[in-house]
Formats: sequence, C-alpha cells, structure tokens
Amino acid sequence: SSSSAPNGSEHSHRQKKIAVLTSGGDSAGMNAVVRAVVRQGIARGCQAYIIREGWEGLVRGNSSAPTPSQSTITTPRFGPKRIVSFSVQDDEQLPPSAASTDFGLSAAISHNPEHVHTVNYLDPNWIAPLSDALLSFGYGELLKDGAGEGDIDEAPADVADIKDSKGRSLKGRYIVRVGWDDVRGWMGDGGTLIGSSRCPSFRTREGRLAAAQNLVKFGIDCLAVCGGDGSLTGADVFRKEWPSLLDELHKTDRISDDERATYKHLNIVGLVGSIDNDMSMTDLTIGALTALHRICESIDSISSTASSHSRAFVIEVMGRHCGWLALLAGIATGADFIFIPESPPESEDWETEMCDLLKSHRIYGKRKSIVIVAEGALDRNLKPIKPEYVKDILVDRLGLDTRVTTLGHTQRGGKPCAYDRILPTLQGVKAVQVLLEATPQSPSYMIGIQENKITKVPLLEAVAQTQAVAKAIEDKQFEKAMSYRDSEFNEMLAAFRISSQVHSNDRVPDNKRLRIGIIHVGAPAGGMNAATRQAVRFCHNRGHVPVAIYNGFDGLLDDNVSELSWLRVDSWTTRGGSELGTNRTLPDVGMGQVAAAFQRHGLDGLLVIGGFEAFHSVQMLEKQRVNYPSFQIPIIHLPATLSNNVPLTDFSLGSDTSLNALVEACDAIKQSASASRNRVFVVETQGGMSGYIATLGALAVGAVIVYTPENGISLGLLQQDVEFLRKRYSLDVKGKSEGRLVIKSEKSSNIYDTETLTKILKEEGRDLFDARSASLGHTLQGGVPSPLDRTRAARLSLRCMQFLEKHAVPNSQSRKGGSRDYPTETCAMIAIRGSKIVYATMAEIMKHTDMKLRRGTDEWWSDIKRLAEVLGGRAGIVASS
Ligand code: ATP
Repeated sequence: SSSSAPNGSEHSHRQKKIAVLTSGGDSAGMNAVVRAVVRQGIARGCQAYIIREGWEGLVRGNSSAPTPSQSTITTPRFGPKRIVSFSVQDDEQLPPSAASTDFGLSAAISHNPEHVHTVNYLDPNWIAPLSDALLSFGYGELLKDGAGEGDIDEAPADVADIKDSKGRSLKGRYIVRVGWDDVRGWMGDGGTLIGSSRCPSFRTREGRLAAAQNLVKFGIDCLAVCGGDGSLTGADVFRKEWPSLLDELHKTDRISDDERATYKHLNIVGLVGSIDNDMSMTDLTIGALTALHRICESIDSISSTASSHSRAFVIEVMGRHCGWLALLAGIATGADFIFIPESPPESEDWETEMCDLLKSHRIYGKRKSIVIVAEGALDRNLKPIKPEYVKDILVDRLGLDTRVTTLGHTQRGGKPCAYDRILPTLQGVKAVQVLLEATPQSPSYMIGIQENKITKVPLLEAVAQTQAVAKAIEDKQFEKAMSYRDSEFNEMLAAFRISSQVHSNDRVPDNKRLRIGIIHVGAPAGGMNAATRQAVRFCHNRGHVPVAIYNGFDGLLDDNVSELSWLRVDSWTTRGGSELGTNRTLPDVGMGQVAAAFQRHGLDGLLVIGGFEAFHSVQMLEKQRVNYPSFQIPIIHLPATLSNNVPLTDFSLGSDTSLNALVEACDAIKQSASASRNRVFVVETQGGMSGYIATLGALAVGAVIVYTPENGISLGLLQQDVEFLRKRYSLDVKGKSEGRLVIKSEKSSNIYDTETLTKILKEEGRDLFDARSASLGHTLQGGVPSPLDRTRAARLSLRCMQFLEKHAVPNSQSRKGGSRDYPTETCAMIAIRGSKIVYATMAEIMKHTDMKLRRGTDEWWSDIKRLAEVLGGRAGIVASS
C-alpha cells in the first residue's frame, strides 16, 4: 500500500492523518478552527491536511493521484549516517543551515542550487519524522503529494485559482497536506481561507463514494468538519455509510484489499461554524459572536442619528430559524422591540402591541425607537414579518419618521472578535483529542460549549434537535421551539422583555415592594452600566425602587444617593466606564456610618457590582451582620473587572471587552512587527496579580510566549525563551520571516520588567531578530463594552435581582435587634462555574481565595498558558532541544 508508514510498521504505528474542512455558509473563526486542528494535530504527531472548498473538495479530490513519499526522497547510504535528498519542484529558499524540529530530530539542511536539498541526519527511522519536521515548519507542504498542476478543465468554474503560501497554484488540488507555518497568522482573518461551498453532489451516494475513495487514497482516517447543521448532517450520513462505501469501492476495484482493511473506520468530528447560533446542544456557535459585534456596531451608529432626529429604525438581521442574533442585539443595544421566529409576538394583533409599547417609550421621553427583525421572523400564524411592513405601521399609526436598514452580509464579515478566536481554538484542540480517542464503537461527536465548558455531544442528536426547532415553529408549537433552545436563550428573552416593558402586569403587591441599593466598587469595567440598567428596569417592572449609590462607599457616606428613573438608564447598555462612579474605598472606612446610611435609605437589598474590592466589601458587610442589623438584608455581588481575578467565577463583566481591546491592539502591533519582518514585540498588559488577560490574550492573538504573575519569570526561563526565539527565527523561510508577539502581564516579575525583558531579547536576538515593547495600559478598560459583556450583564443582573427578591424581607427599617443569625446564603456572589451559574456564599469563595495576591487559587484557565505555547510552537521546540 502506498500510504503505509515508511518503515513498514503498518497498522499499529501508522501515523494518523487528520483532515479539516469548512462547509456551508462561512463564519468568522473558521480559520482559527483550521489553525488549531492543523497545529494540534501536528503537535500530537499526526499529519495534517486541509480540504479546500468544503465537501466539494473531498468529492473532487486531486486531479493527479498523490505520489508515494519515496518517489521524492532518495536514500543513499554513507556509513553510519545517511544522506537524504529532497527534490522539490521549484526554487525554494530553505534556510542555509541548522534546522531543528519539534520532533526531537536535528538536521543540517544545505541549499543546493539544483533544487536538491541535502539533509544529514542521525535517526534511522527517518522519513516520516524528517519530512514531517520540514512540513511542520512550512517547507514545501507539497513535498509528498504535490505531483503536479491539475487539469485545468477539471477545476470547477466557481473555484478561483488559489495559490499556496509559496505562490504555487492549487488548481485541481483540493486535498493538500499542510505544515505548521501554513496556518500562521490565520487567527485574525475573517471567513474561511480554505474555501467553503454548498455541494449538491455530496448529497448523492456517488458523490460520497468519490469522497470516500479520496480519503482512502490519501490515507486520511480522521476528519474534522466545521459548518452548520447541513454540513454536519452530511458528516453523519457519511460516517454511517462508510462501511458500505468501502465495500462498494472494493468490489469495483477502486481500492485494494489492504486499503479496505486499513481504513475500516472513519472518525469524524463536527465543529459548529454558523453565524446564526442556530445549533442545539451548544450555547454558542463559531462566528455568531462576531456577527453580533458587527450588528451592534451598526446599531450603535444608527442609534445616535436616530436620537438626533427622533427617528425610528427598523433593522433586519440574519437568522432564518433562529432569533439569537436579533435577541442578543436587542439586549445589547437597548432596542425597543424585536421579532424572532421561535417566539412570535404574544398577540395576533402584534401591530397594536408593538405600537403601544413604542408609544409608551416615547411618553417616557425616549427620542428614538429601534425595532429589530430577524430574517425569519413570523407571527403566530406563520405569516412572515417583514421590515418594510413594520415601517409602514410605525409611519401610519405613530407618525414616526421611520427608516429600514438591512444589515445583510456585513454581518458575516470582518475580523473575528476575541471570543471567536478563543472558542474555535479550544474547540479545535478538543476535536483533535476526540478524533484520536475515537473507537469504532463511539458515535460521531459534535464539539460544543456550555457556559464555559467545552463539551462533546452526539452529533446526530444535536442535528436532530436543531431540526426539531424548525419543525416546532412550522407546527406553531412555539413553546416547544423555545424549550429546545438553551437556558441562556430563555433567560435573555426574559431579560429583554423586562427591560423594554413600561407597564407590566408583573408588579408585586405593595407590601412586598423593596428598596434595592445599587453600588459600583473598584475600577470601572465594561458591562457595569448595562448590569445597572437591567437591575433598574427590573425594579420598575416589579414595583421596587432602584436606589443608586453614587461614588461607592464614599458617596454613600455623603448621602450621594438617589432613585433611578426608567429613562435615566436607557442608553446605559452601550456606555463604558461607570455611570454611578466607582472607587476602591471599602466599607470599613466607617462601618457604623455605612450601617447608618443603609438604615437611613431604607435598603431592603443590595447589588454590588465590581471586582475584587466589591467581593471584599460584601465579605466585610456579611461579617458585620451580627453587629449591624441594617446589613441583615440580602446582598449580591456581580463580578465586574477586566482582570477577571474574582475568585470562583470563570468570568467577570468587563473581561471580554478588555480581551477585545487587547486583540485589536495586538493585531495592529503585529502588523507593524511583521512589516519590519523579524521583530519581536513585547506587549505589556494590565491585570493585577492575575494573568488571565495575558493568557487568554496570547491564545487569541497567537503570541509565542506569555508571562504571567502566576508563573513568574526566571533567568532559566528567559534563556529557554531566547533560544526558542532564535531557533524559531532561524527556521523561517528567508524573506518570509514575520513579527511575533510576546505578551507580558505587568506584574509577572519585579526584576525583569518590560523594558529589561525587551533589552535582553534585543541583545540576544542579534542578527536574527529585533525587539520592541508596547504597553497597553488603560486602553484595556476598553471604550464601548463588547456585546458579550453587555448581554452577560443583562442576564446575570436579572439573576441577581431575582436572588434579592427571593431573600428580601420588605421594610427592613422596622427590623430590630442584632442578635439574629441571618442566613449566610443570603449574602452571595453570582458566579459562572464551568457549565453552571451558581450563587456562591462568602464562605465558599474564601476557600478558593488568596487574599494576599487578590486572586483565586484554582483558575480554570491555568492550562491555557501551556496550550498557547503549544499552538505558538514554543512547546515543541523547547521540548526538542
Ligand atoms: P449554514 O449554517 O450556512 O446553513 P450549513 O452547513 O447548514 O450552513 P447547508 O447548505 O445546509 O449549509 O449544507 C452544506 C453542505 O452540506 C451541502 O451543500 C451538502 O454538501 C452537505 N449536506 C447537507 N445536508 C446533507 C445531507 N442530508 N446529506 C449529505 N450531505 C449534506
């Protein structure tokens, strides 16, 4: 068999070949999937392939069959050493000397003008590791199977003549082996660089037969498919049919006995790339959040002009069967009304329902009206709701100057947001793991995410449930449709309704009404204002009184306190910083006075929004409950800090905004670093004693090294890193070297500060690379909060208010005595923990807190540093030296 391992160690040691394809509609983050699958695949010792143009590429394969590796490598023997010649087809510039690989293999490569590269090596089992090593650093991904240009007639008209990274035509070649550097810098690109398509022929058995034959010919037995539910359905059909496809190929002599035996099993894994977020059994699909970014940017811009002219805007967003984008955009931009397929307006006469609501907003003093319509919006009778019609209603009935804006394809495009780099990277890594662990018995899995946990779920089940949503809508079973959506979707919908209502039927009786204090503590963070808005709207909805405490505990002592009106908070979703004002003063500035102020303002409950200081404050208040009865009210802490250093919770509000600010800055810095070719940029981030922003930032921008306070910096480490960088730069194809990023948390080391570090790198880089530094400082607080922080704020804030309502005893002023042991579960922090949202008591949090270093003791992201270094290439190179 042509595809067997070079040294004949066939079945048991056959090197796995992993291929990745993107299919269906494109989405931001698909490139990060490809990068992660390729690099993690290589790091796990596999060969990596890309399949261009989705299923189409797999069906078409390459017009010339791949040639066995031996044909391009000759192996004359010279004593104990062997000399290997690689013949490559065009003039490659291999580095003049000394290459080392991440497979523990050292080779000296010399350039030969006859396009033959001579390699001295010491390892007897040489071919696979050596050629892989070369491939893994981007030397001639076409070494093995690049037999020739395709027959031009066979190249489909719809597929452009794409060139590979070395400028060679890929025409007629859909299945391409790739190396480490072939996917370099892919993370920041939108869409999919390997192409995508709709492929009618894959829906036929003939098509899938051809696809199967191609996989066998290439010896690919692991396939990662990134696409929507259609693409993943195709994947499942393919896998189920696999044995019968092989039988047929064998019967018709298209594959050999050997091939049939070797490729008995096909492992497939699905990753969901879709901007609609329409897949069941996962919270978020790859690309959805970037689409939400684009939508929010557009609506934010429209909002200001709408307000200036007191206009109404009807905005159509994507989403055929799924209203996620419309709903989340509605929350994130503070829209007035939304139309989504799975939950049509309550009343048949929705026109009146909508007009009444918008009118009530105008009566309150709003100067603008925003209505968001999902592409697939329906009324209860399944009649499509179209933007033009909505506009006519608003003009006719309310006399509003109304415009329609259809956002269209802008929603697909552009740079992936931070999350759409991190999520696909983590999922791509998981996909490789699942593929390598698969057994003939295991089902095909889809990689998903639940809150903050990367999951694997049976692919078929997820697809079936997704299709069931569309079916339920078709059958007018809207509640059923909603039940198939994840809990986040339902909560978001509730949050939206609460925030847009003015006259509600949900008011509690007079004697249950509460005065709820809202205070910001610590540094400002994106989402604080959005959370406050949601809390205020909740209060108005239920008949409670939202009491704003300005300027933290200092302000409280000055009685800088007032009730917040419905209109006052209207535009707060999009505002960065803290509208209430915030500072680091803790309540121990005067416990007795703070208690007296609680009493004076008659607080029945308190929402504290902020970071580590906020947590510390709540903890102090709880401790003082025995002494001060006015603290015997439910208190809830909503974590908000860009450092994300609040213990126990996976995320704080503001951390996503901050990551996005970092990614944007690093993209720009990287461009400048690459323009001058071989420059290393040391980028300093904030984050206190927590390396969260630095670590996740490094993963999101593809930095090669990350320094955190948790791990510190030592001389030994620096030496390793310098060696790694030198090796890395020496391996770059000449003239194709590029800028690289090192991310350093400001408090990683007292001695090796950013300046010193940069000087060391500059000195040690010598002729190989140069070093510069940049400090991001307060830019990381971000301007406008990210959509994720805005919507997360709304959801968590709603939960906080429900908590306060549940535990509160109205009229706290009348409470007497301080001896009562107030239940500890009424003082809590809302936390995202893995796949769950929980209320954690102060005692629980303390178990996971390092008060001195002001951070948690077990951070979920501690393994991500290692992962960032694997995908950046450091792990492989350092391990091999
Ligand atoms: P989007 O979210 O953009 O709709 P999608 O993956 O759902 O993405 P589809 O057009 O539905 O997009 O499917 C993409 C491709 O997947 C199809 O062109 C076809 O090749 C394949 N495919 C879809 N359904 C099946 C099926 N039932 N059997 C085999 N292949 C299928």
